[in-house]
Amino acid sequence: MADKANKYPENVPGKYYVDNQCIDCDLCRETAPNNFRRNDEGGYSYVYKQPSTPEEEAQCKEAKEGCPVEAIGDDGDQP
Ligand code: SF4
Repeated sequence: MADKANKYPENVPGKYYVDNQCIDCDLCRETAPNNFRRNDEGGYSYVYKQPSTPEEEAQCKEAKEGCPVEAIGDDGDQP
């Protein structure tokens, strides 16, 4: 389970975030391309934009459920 205490600093504030368990597998960026991006230097994903439409919300939820190491959380602090 993702831990917001370990989330990467690039995550924008809000519900979704990526923590430091990410293994850079690319699934979330493929599943929710509007919301997840890669930190190329660090080799991990982060939430670039919180979902703002039902479609994006569904994609982020799918990414969270599909992440193989449970590095995506949806209990982040609201801005
Ligand atoms: S799906 Fe999980 S492990 Fe894969 S890149 Fe996204 S956060 Fe990282």
